[in-house]
Amino acid sequence: MPLRTDRFADCPRCATQVHAVWPWPHWGRLRWIYFSVLGLCLVASPVILADGFVMIPTMMVWMAAIGPINRLAAKKPTCARCGSIVTPVVPGSAAPSRPPELRAAS
Ligand SMILES: [Zn+2]
Repeated sequence: MPLRTDRFADCPRCATQVHAVWPWPHWGRLRWIYFSVLGLCLVASPVILADGFVMIPTMMVWMAAIGPINRLAAKKPTCARCGSIVTPVVPGSAAPSRPPELRAAS
């Protein structure tokens, strides 16, 4: 999955606007789907509990996936140069300073 670097953000460490690496925006939605499946499993618990050999271990593996999904859903955009967490630039909010790559071109 390609990382998006086409948007700018303010980097506190570089003290300028930089290209930011944005995490995949759908991790939160995927987390919601994960909990929906857990809810469906709660409804289907009589069937799951009747098959203790396959479905209960499968449910344990499924529940172990909450850690990585939570970590990925909480990921913040980072600076492409130094890796610091950046603040997204809201268009038209402040006087924009151009990133150094674009300043050299003009
Ligand atoms: Zn930076």
